[in-house]
Amino acid sequence: MKVLVTAKLPQGVIQEIADQFDVQANEKTQPFSRDELLERVGGIDGLLSTITDRIDEEVYDRAPGLRIVANYGVGFDNIDIPGATARGIMVTNTPGVVTNATADITFALILAVARRIVEGDRMTRSGGFKSWAPMHFLGTEVTGKTLGIVGLGRIGRAVARRARSFDMEVFYFSRNPLKRTEEEELGVAFAPLEDLLARSDFVSLHVPLTPETRHLISHKELSLMKPSAFLINTSRGPVVNEKDLVEVLKQGRIRGAGLDVYENEPALTPGLVDLDNVVLLPHLGSATVETRTRMAEMAAANLLAGLRGERPPNCLNPTSDL
Ligand code: NAP
Repeated sequence: MKVLVTAKLPQGVIQEIADQFDVQANEKTQPFSRDELLERVGGIDGLLSTITDRIDEEVYDRAPGLRIVANYGVGFDNIDIPGATARGIMVTNTPGVVTNATADITFALILAVARRIVEGDRMTRSGGFKSWAPMHFLGTEVTGKTLGIVGLGRIGRAVARRARSFDMEVFYFSRNPLKRTEEEELGVAFAPLEDLLARSDFVSLHVPLTPETRHLISHKELSLMKPSAFLINTSRGPVVNEKDLVEVLKQGRIRGAGLDVYENEPALTPGLVDLDNVVLLPHLGSATVETRTRMAEMAAANLLAGLRGERPPNCLNPTSDL
């Protein structure tokens, strides 16, 4: 059977797949372009894709023998799952292993934007640090503030746990509120989205990208936030209407933003880079050696199970349909 791996992964993981199947793997640091992907999927049985590969009807049409798409990433908004299910193709993701790294980068963004860390680094490097002074380069205190978590899943909960050590009051919004005992254990309280936005000093987004969450945060929601509040997005770019965000940031209607993901990634909405009150990361949520290794191992385990004819551990297709 033939396997296509669309991005460069640790050699040990590629070897494990190659021991059992005929592997064609991307050797470049950058993932395949759309054309490269479409050119290579013909005749494959298994596909190890990443979150930048759009896996849709066009791909399925070109790979009639495809049995499994093992996505390297917890998010799977890049994959047409109903289309895959209709053709009997299994789809998997890598949940859990990305949680701590992504929660850490969320806190890195909260601290960086509130304490003006990147701005301060830029100023220091350019020779602008002349002297310590009582009123110089003041930021916003994080300890003791209110954090609003939108989407209290694996990553949202890990962010809530970190917030406890900053003595933060934590509100969350999810479609299905937790049981009271779970809320008490985690130290969080449910709030409807509008209340959460109005009360929080930091609003952090942890929902998956779905038709329901696309532009969940647009002009109306941003207008509900306090002028002193910060928006942190480590979920998916299109959850935020980036044009509206740039507008409210420019007008000073919120204090700042920390972003790891972008609406038209890797392109940035005009005006974003001109703002000092934003910290911009190049989608680094899961980017640690440890996490990326675990993701590769998990994606490979899913792929191999699927090709052996088993239901893989992290199968996303509804059980009843596959
Ligand atoms: P998860 O465990 O599935 O959590 C997602 C949470 O969002 C769930 O608790 C879900 O709860 C809630 N949710 C879903 N739809 C909602 C809606 N319409 N309104 C409000 N809440 C909603 O997923 P996770 O592992 O925490 O990952 C979350 C997302 O983070 C991923 O989908 C991915 O896009 C992103 N991510 C980004 C990076 C990065 O590099 N920046 C790394 C990893 C993950 P209910 O169903 O109860 O609403």
